[in-house]
Amino acid sequence: MIRLGSARDTRYESLMVENSEIYQSAVEQLERVAKILKLDGGLVESLKHPRKIIQVAVPVKMDDGSTKVFVGYRVQHNFARGPYKGGIRYHPEVSLDDVKALAMLMTWKCAVLNIPFGGAKGGVACPIKEFSEGEKERLTRRFTAMIADDIGPDKDIPAPDMYTDAQTMAWVMDTYSMLKGYMAQAVVTGKPVECGGSPGRTAATGFGVVVCALEAMKHNGMKLTGSTVAVQGFGNVGYHAARIIAGLGAKVVAVSDSKGGIYSADGLDLEAVAKHKEDTGTVQNLRGAKTISNEELLTTRCDVLLPCAMENQITGKNAANIKAAIMSEGANGPTTPDADVILDKKKIFVVPDILANAGGVTVSYYEWVQNQQRESWTEAEIRKKLEERMIGAFNDVLEVSKKHNVNMRSAAYVLAVGRVAAAMKKLGLFP
Ligand code: NAD
Repeated sequence: MIRLGSARDTRYESLMVENSEIYQSAVEQLERVAKILKLDGGLVESLKHPRKIIQVAVPVKMDDGSTKVFVGYRVQHNFARGPYKGGIRYHPEVSLDDVKALAMLMTWKCAVLNIPFGGAKGGVACPIKEFSEGEKERLTRRFTAMIADDIGPDKDIPAPDMYTDAQTMAWVMDTYSMLKGYMAQAVVTGKPVECGGSPGRTAATGFGVVVCALEAMKHNGMKLTGSTVAVQGFGNVGYHAARIIAGLGAKVVAVSDSKGGIYSADGLDLEAVAKHKEDTGTVQNLRGAKTISNEELLTTRCDVLLPCAMENQITGKNAANIKAAIMSEGANGPTTPDADVILDKKKIFVVPDILANAGGVTVSYYEWVQNQQRESWTEAEIRKKLEERMIGAFNDVLEVSKKHNVNMRSAAYVLAVGRVAAAMKKLGLFP
């Protein structure tokens, strides 16, 4: 796969490269599911390709007075079920191929949850950690202006992703609104509550991960109270998932971050862990807890493992040592395909990422609905709706898994691809 060159000196390689690892595996997954669903070859071919790719060169005035140019993308995969939806990320290694794969995954994620959106993703290749707040704002506003005709409340609705946040979305919304001449709140989700954002968005993904873990436990005849949980990653998703599941009566015995992890057989005091991480930058070396490595965290003896850090953590090398009975994937792509085969053999029940971590996009959808209807719902209402939808989706996937005798990951793809294909067949082919 060709990656971007240094974004600092603004030299870029050609990005029109097919077949990055992540894009290739997204296409392979689609092909496997298409066989199960016996889909028409032409339809599968159109699902393999994004409907539209927008590539722009974004000039930004830097604080030192120089102008630098960064390559940005918006990839729109499929809109058969509704307007495009997906995050915008800023990262030096953003590549067109990865954005294409992530846009396709958004199509499936929305379809699994039965949310009336299609899939999109965007990104700008830039050394964002070196940017001042002003540089980040100027990049965001110029990028937004350059893609303004391709996004919109009924067209394509961006959201935060890696190194973009609520403030970034406020800048996107303001820029779009200035260009269009009206305040278009529904053009983005994940924006600040002060300008139309929805309460409950921050904890939504962690909450959904826990709902899926609880449903999986119920299905497998396990009790939550007193059960043991290990959580990889103590960021937005991992922290909230750990806090919520502990609040419901489970014992979180291990957590980790990029530096390593900690373990306590009696259960960790998560607020003390959060405070310690805030003070020292890591969860490690907390008084009263044993310091462990990330590898040890993944292979901790526990009932539930929540991988909430990043992709490719559970691999062919360590999957055989996983001792949890249930996994609910908070991160995107934490399990490699070869690890999946091993987990299947060990009869570990895995709730796949496109289902387990869809709480965020679900609350984004609720934010969009509130904006469109000029309504505001309470956090309790949103949480109730989210819980019902996650439980419904879990059971839809479980049913498909029984019907086709496949694991939950394959079942989630069968359900999602089947829903998108059904919409495409009904729409027919224009002209
Ligand atoms: P974050 O940056 O807030 O947190 C990531 C955490 O993982 C940090 O604590 C970091 O130290 C830790 N980490 C990084 N590398 C690690 C490693 N090798 N081992 C252990 N810990 C490691 O990010 P987040 O928003 O919590 O996202 C985490 C994952 O969930 C990502 O894969 C993201 O794509 C996915 N996700 C997030 C959301 C959301 O709403 N935030 C929604 C869907 C999916």
